[in-house]
Amino acid sequence: MSEPRKFDLLVLGGGSGGLGCARRAAEFGTKAAIVEMGRIGGTCVNVGCVPKKVMYYAATVAETLHDANEYGFDVTMNGPFDWAKLKKKRDAYIKRLNGIYDRNLEKGEIEKIVGRAKFVDAKTVDVDGQLYTADHIVVATGGFPTMPQVPGIDHAINSDGFFELEELPKKSVVCGAGYIAIEMAGILNALGSDVTLCIRHEEFLRTFDPLVREVVMEEMTKAGVKILKNSCISSIEKTDSGLNAKFAVKGEEHVISGCDTVLMAIGRRPLTDIGLDKAGVKLTHKGHIAVDEWQQTSAANVYALGDVCGKFELTPVAIATGRKLAHRLFEPNPKSKQDFECIPTVVFSHPPTGTCGMTEDEAKDAFGADNIKIYKTRFTPMYHAMMERKTTTAMKLVCAGPEERVVGLHMVGLGCDEMLQGFGVAMKMGATKAQFDSCVAIHPTSSEELVTMR
Ligand code: FAD
Ligand code: NDP
Repeated sequence: MSEPRKFDLLVLGGGSGGLGCARRAAEFGTKAAIVEMGRIGGTCVNVGCVPKKVMYYAATVAETLHDANEYGFDVTMNGPFDWAKLKKKRDAYIKRLNGIYDRNLEKGEIEKIVGRAKFVDAKTVDVDGQLYTADHIVVATGGFPTMPQVPGIDHAINSDGFFELEELPKKSVVCGAGYIAIEMAGILNALGSDVTLCIRHEEFLRTFDPLVREVVMEEMTKAGVKILKNSCISSIEKTDSGLNAKFAVKGEEHVISGCDTVLMAIGRRPLTDIGLDKAGVKLTHKGHIAVDEWQQTSAANVYALGDVCGKFELTPVAIATGRKLAHRLFEPNPKSKQDFECIPTVVFSHPPTGTCGMTEDEAKDAFGADNIKIYKTRFTPMYHAMMERKTTTAMKLVCAGPEERVVGLHMVGLGCDEMLQGFGVAMKMGATKAQFDSCVAIHPTSSEELVTMR
C-alpha cells in the first residue's frame, strides 16, 4: 500500500456538518480534505430538508389552489397534479446544488476524496485502498433511516424512497410519529393521496409540548389524514391489487389493503460502521459517537459532530457545530463551541409548527410548577376569516421566575415556520414577557399575538 497522503484536516462525510467544518477551516488556511461516498451535500441536500421543502411548497400550492375560489378566483384545474413533472424539476435543482457544492469545495481549495472511509487507526483513514492521515480527523457521517424487521418489509419504502417515487401514490400508509412521518403524511395528503398515518401510541410528536401535539393532530384529522392509533406494523403483503399492510391494534389485527406505498418513518440510526474500534472511538449506549462539549471523541485528535452524535439532528445544528469546531482548531479560538440551548425547530406540518426552548413540563421540572406562568392563545387566522376551510393557530409562552423570562415558545399555525427565527433570537438573549410586550405589534398578522398575550 502506498504512503498515506497528509492533510491538516480530514473530514469524513460531505454533508451539512462536514462541509460546514471543512469550508470554515479552509478559510483559516487549513489544508483540508473531505471524504464522501455518496452525493455531496449529504442528507439535507439530497434526501432531506431541500427536496422535502420543495414537496412541502407543492403541497402548500395545492392548498392555496383549493382556497383560491373563496378569494374570487375562478381556478379550473386542467388535469391532475403532475408529480413526475415536479420530480424531474426537483431532481434537476438538487443536481444544480450538488454542482454548486462541488465548486465551493474547489474555490475553497478543499480536496474531495470520493469513496468510503474507514479508520485504520486513530491517525489513519483508508478510502478504497488509499491511505490518508491528518492532524485532526472529524467524523460527520450522519445517519440512515431505520426499518422494522417484519415480514414483507422489502415492499415498504423509507424517506429516501419517498424521493424516488415517480408518481403520487393513490393510497399511502405512513408509519411513525416524528418529524418525517408528520411532514410526509401531510404532503401526500395535500397532494391528493388517501393517507393513513399509523402511530404506536395515542399521540404523535411526543417530545413536543402538548399544545403542538394536540393542534397538529386536530388539523391533520380535519385535513383528511386517517390516524390509526396504538398500531404496530406486523407484516406487508404484496397482492395483485396493491400492498396489504397488517397491524396489531390492541391485540386485534387491522389490515389496510390495496396500498400503493407503505412509508416507514420511525427514526434514524447513526452511520458508525467506519472502523471506530480501530481508532479507539467510543459510542454512547444508544450507538451514537460519544463526544464532550468540544466535540472531542475518546480518541485524541478525532472529533465527531452532526447526526452521528444524535443531539438535535438538524442541519443548522450540524453546520454551526462544524464551523465552531473549525474556529476552535484552526483560527484558533480555544473557547469556540456549539451551544445546544434553546434551538428553534419547525415541523413542516399543515399548518406548520414552531418550537423553541422548554415544554411546559420541562420548565416545571427545571424551575418548579409555582415558578412558571403560561400564556396561551388560540384563534382562526385572518386568512381563513371569509372561507369555509379553516385552520387553527395556537400559541403558548412558557415563562419562568418573577421576571417571567420566556423559556419556551410553542406554536402551530399559518406562518409559524417563518415567525420563529426572530423570537428565537429574543429568547437566546434572555427576553422576558415584558420585553416581548414592549415591542409594538405588527397588524394584522398572527405574530402580533406573541407580543400581546395576557
Ligand atoms: P449528513 O448530512 O447525513 O451527511 C453525512 C454524509 O456522510 C453523507 O453524505 C454520507 O454519504 C457520508 N458518509 C457516511 N459514511 C461515510 C463513509 N464511511 N465514508 C465517506 N462518506 C460517508 N433538518 C433540518 O434542519 N430541517 C429540515 O427541514 C430537515 N428535514 C429533513 C427531512 C428528512 C427526510 C431527513 C431524513 C432529514 C431532515 N433533516 C432536516 C435533518 C438533516 O438532514 C440532518 O440533521 C443533517 O443532514 C445532518 O447533517 P450531517 O452532516 O450530520 O449528516
Ligand atoms: P423521529 O425521531 O423524529 O421520530 C421517530 C418516531 O417514530 C419515534 O419518536 C417514535 O415515536 C416512532 N417510532 C419509533 N419506532 C417505531 C416503530 N417501530 N413503529 C412505529 N413508530 C415508531 O425520527 P424521524 O425519522 O421522523 O426523523 C429523524 C430526525 O430528522 C428528526 O428527529 C429530526 O431531528 C430530523 N428531521 C428534522 C426535520 C425538520 O427540521 N423539519 C424534518 C425531518 C427530520 P413513538 O415513540 O411516539 O412511537
